[in-house]
Amino acid sequence: MQAFTGNGTHRRGGDQDLPYQCSRCNADMEEGFLLEKGDGLLSSETWVSGKPVKSYLSGLNLKGKDVYDVVTFRCSACGYLDSYALSEQSR
Ligand SMILES: [Zn+2]
Repeated sequence: MQAFTGNGTHRRGGDQDLPYQCSRCNADMEEGFLLEKGDGLLSSETWVSGKPVKSYLSGLNLKGKDVYDVVTFRCSACGYLDSYALSEQSR
């Protein structure tokens, strides 16, 4: 488990895989995530492959599906949001 360092406003040196810049105004984008509130639990948004399959137990059946954490970048200039599903969740 790696702890996040910093608050997202500073770039980590040599660790830039994608140029996170606003597609509208080319300003720098700030890393974050969209908060999901369900049943009193807080979690980040997730991206799931395929179509939703209903399950009686959990609401939706995620068996055999790829589940990714969604990272959302916010443009510091115009507020535009851009989402990326980059890292697969370990279940
Ligand atoms: Zn922008």
